[in-house]
Amino acid sequence: MDNALDFLTRAIDEFQDSPKYSVIHFSAAVEQFLKARLMAEHWSLVVSDRQPADWDKFTSGNFQSVTLAEAASKLDKVVRSGLSADALAAFSTVANHRNRAIHFFHSAHTDKEAQSELRRIAKEQLVAWLHLHRLLQNRWSDTFGPWLENIDSIEEKLRSYRDFLSMVFDEVTPELQRYRDAGALVEACAACSFESMVFANELNVIDTATCLVCGHAFRCITIECPSCEEQVRFEGEGFATCEHCNTSFEPEHIADAIEDEGAAYEAAKEGDAVRGNCGDCDGYHSVVRVPSGQWVATCCLVEHERLETCEWCNEPNTGDMEMSYHSGCNMCDGHAGWTKGD
Ligand SMILES: [Zn+2]
Ligand SMILES: [Zn+2]
Ligand SMILES: [Zn+2]
Ligand SMILES: [Zn+2]
Repeated sequence: MDNALDFLTRAIDEFQDSPKYSVIHFSAAVEQFLKARLMAEHWSLVVSDRQPADWDKFTSGNFQSVTLAEAASKLDKVVRSGLSADALAAFSTVANHRNRAIHFFHSAHTDKEAQSELRRIAKEQLVAWLHLHRLLQNRWSDTFGPWLENIDSIEEKLRSYRDFLSMVFDEVTPELQRYRDAGALVEACAACSFESMVFANELNVIDTATCLVCGHAFRCITIECPSCEEQVRFEGEGFATCEHCNTSFEPEHIADAIEDEGAAYEAAKEGDAVRGNCGDCDGYHSVVRVPSGQWVATCCLVEHERLETCEWCNEPNTGDMEMSYHSGCNMCDGHAGWTKGD
């Protein structure tokens, strides 16, 4: 953790004068935080799959550590506290640019080029930090609790990036006004703090909210709260709390609000499956048909044009069902699983 915090502090301090080292140090810091979480579970998880874990080699530093992809997979499959798709994408962007910086970094030729490179780095790091910070503060707070003060001071330091991006905010201000005029909502962005996060402001449809300053984006849906009739917004997942009356909501509540009841009734009458399963998150009957004819995974807030049916259990699923007769879907083990017990 001391290393991770040190690298992160360096990355922020070096940002304007040595952007190349900022990119390299920031990426190293992200990986160290993930490894610290793996380490809290068991030291052997930090060792790459490509070699056997060996305590003596580990303590002498003579081992190959996990890559970002390996760390993400172990957090999901072993620690059972995986990264969201958005978080993994943000960390991967940072890691890819680190690789490029190490092998092909060329100094900018013009001032304009240098400015746009700095902007890109500031945006990427703010978005990656938002995802990392949320993990450290919330889901992983048992592990990182003792460092919360240091973690908050990183948040303070990143103000310098926000000052730097104020130029971008000035540039997009007219565009933000056009969105407001067209009826969209513009709110503060959690990553860069500017009032530049654009929401479609429509009920019962999946929308991608996007920040025009830093590019932070997430899927969301707004429904009417059945208790107080105010609006409740779900951000990135099918769970939310009504800000007005404190009622807690689950994917099931989104399903009730957006499902095409006529189509559901017809399907039930025909003996067809009314709801589908989500292959992304293992959500059971969380995928519903909406009046536009599309399917919406209320667990992950993803729209699907159509669902395929598992050839073994006959349930519709968002995943690829090509081999499903043999190997099943995320809800069944297919023919192979059925015959295994014989
Ligand atoms: Zn932003
Ligand atoms: Zn309410
Ligand atoms: Zn899902
Ligand atoms: Zn199945």
